[in-house]
Amino acid sequence: MAERDKDAETQMARLLLALRSQGVTDAKVLHAIETTPRPLFTQELFKDRAFEDSALPIACGQTISQPFIVGLMTQALKIDRRDRVLEIGTGSGYQTAILSKIARLVYTVERYRTLMREAEGRFKELGLTNVITRFGDGGEGWPEQAPFDRIMVTAAAPGEPKALLSQLKPNGILVAPVGKGPVQSLRRYVGDGKGGFEVEDLIDVRFVPLLEGVAKEL
Ligand code: SAH
Repeated sequence: MAERDKDAETQMARLLLALRSQGVTDAKVLHAIETTPRPLFTQELFKDRAFEDSALPIACGQTISQPFIVGLMTQALKIDRRDRVLEIGTGSGYQTAILSKIARLVYTVERYRTLMREAEGRFKELGLTNVITRFGDGGEGWPEQAPFDRIMVTAAAPGEPKALLSQLKPNGILVAPVGKGPVQSLRRYVGDGKGGFEVEDLIDVRFVPLLEGVAKEL
């Protein structure tokens, strides 16, 4: 095995251990992380830090999420093989790729064309055929494809994401960072089957904001 591959393997093993020790224990989630090459999703400048458990800058002033947060959010969604999942904020496409390995179909929305195109290239390179992308304002969800079994928002919603909750199945689950400040609460909404939700605050997180409309710049 090439030195570099061995190195990547060691670093991945270390990362998985760190995630486990922080409570990401779902085997399907850990396997998805193990089989998704994070260096492919990071900028050239940060490739050597791709296996670190930290968020890193990507194009358009955005960030690729920290692996622990990706693992935690994916686990919190309790995804079933048959589920159709909506993701808001494609970014690098890393979280999308993880979801695609666990769910039946992943619909993902991004407001920067550049990020969308780059992510699409990565999905193609990895042979992920169950990802459907859309350039648009994810705050509005994807009404034509609703309702969804699961929804994940990877940008901070200023308040309760009402439009998105209305596109969730009665027993569905939505996970989103909620809050206006630099630190938000990672919130899980679990449908009670009667149109209501049980709401749970999981941990404090730092996400880039969910902005209105599509980006004017590329
Ligand atoms: N899941 C991504 C995280 C990207 S950061 C990853 O793993 O790389 C959050 C992303 O949400 C950014 O790319 C940002 O452009 C996008 N975003 C913010 N507001 C949005 C909106 N209203 N609609 C769609 N995408 C949005």
